[in-house]
Amino acid sequence: MNPDSLQDLIRAAVAFRDQRDWAQFHNPKELAISLAVESAELLQIMQWYKGEELQRVVTEKHAHLKDELADVLFSVLLLADELKIDLGPAFLEKLAKTGAKYPVGKSKGSPKKYTEL
Ligand SMILES: [Mg+2]
Repeated sequence: MNPDSLQDLIRAAVAFRDQRDWAQFHNPKELAISLAVESAELLQIMQWYKGEELQRVVTEKHAHLKDELADVLFSVLLLADELKIDLGPAFLEKLAKTGAKYPVGKSKGSPKKYTEL
């Protein structure tokens, strides 16, 4: 198992799910809900903190942040498998599309949406 391989991670997530007979609960909508819930759990760790306090929380709760980010990835991997989306190429295609909307010459250092560049 190569932890840097998306395909290996998908195989590990699917095996984990199948060992527990959870596929019966995993339709695309439920997996998308799980993705949103796990993202919210990640956000909740940092909610209400800012500045130095936020930095302290990020440092002190790093292990918890790592776990929640891994939960997000678990949902992403299972959703990609369910929807038969090849994540690596999908990510690179989307990065190219986003790059076309945000050319470096116009967007560098700017927080503006592409429609306002
Ligand atoms: Mg979680």
